[in-house]
Amino acid sequence: MKKVLVLEDETNIRSFVVINLKRAGYEAIEAGTGEEALEQLKQNPDTKVALLDIMLPDMDGFEVCRRIRASNTQIGIIMLTARTQEMDKVTGLMTGADDYVTKPFSPAELTARIDALYRRTGGVVAEDTGEISQPPFLLNTRNRTLEKSGQRVKLTQVEYAIVKLFMDNPGKALSREEILDTVWGRDYFGELKIVDVNIRRLRIKIEDDPTNPTYINTVWGYGYKWGG
Ligand code: CA
Repeated sequence: MKKVLVLEDETNIRSFVVINLKRAGYEAIEAGTGEEALEQLKQNPDTKVALLDIMLPDMDGFEVCRRIRASNTQIGIIMLTARTQEMDKVTGLMTGADDYVTKPFSPAELTARIDALYRRTGGVVAEDTGEISQPPFLLNTRNRTLEKSGQRVKLTQVEYAIVKLFMDNPGKALSREEILDTVWGRDYFGELKIVDVNIRRLRIKIEDDPTNPTYINTVWGYGYKWGG
């Protein structure tokens, strides 16, 4: 079930939103205060989108947004604002909201925004090419698996990410920094050596002769290259 949290203290507006969400195929999780909303999310961690009213009895919607974001980067957040000042929109986006809808809004407008956010937050399987075939290798990007000549090669998530990077860039020399940034992330302050260690392990798994590699080639003083 596609769960959407509705945080709104005015019961008539909340019922209106909930009825329309149900009609659009969503399951609504209701809350009338900020505290209730945070509690509901704790109990429903599979909630993909949250609608947050701003004027609430216990704390404002921006604060709720900030608290949700502190532990959840995946959920989509839409602010429901009665006011139209740019300030509200900016504040909302600064606290981590993805979108905002100004009251009064039509049910169609609201569900369209939720649908869009739902797709973006991965509620629906994102479009994917599915497979990268470079014989003897076949990489399945949906299942994150690798086959060599039809045989499954068991990879860690990091090894998978390295192979994916190589297969996306066949024949291109990739620096160790580039590999580190792409696979471990830019905010990872590890040593470049971790790249070499993973490459060494990967070679044992995929090369016919790991001491004389032909798939992952060393580019001396720089990095690695996939294939010739
Ligand atoms: Ca309110």
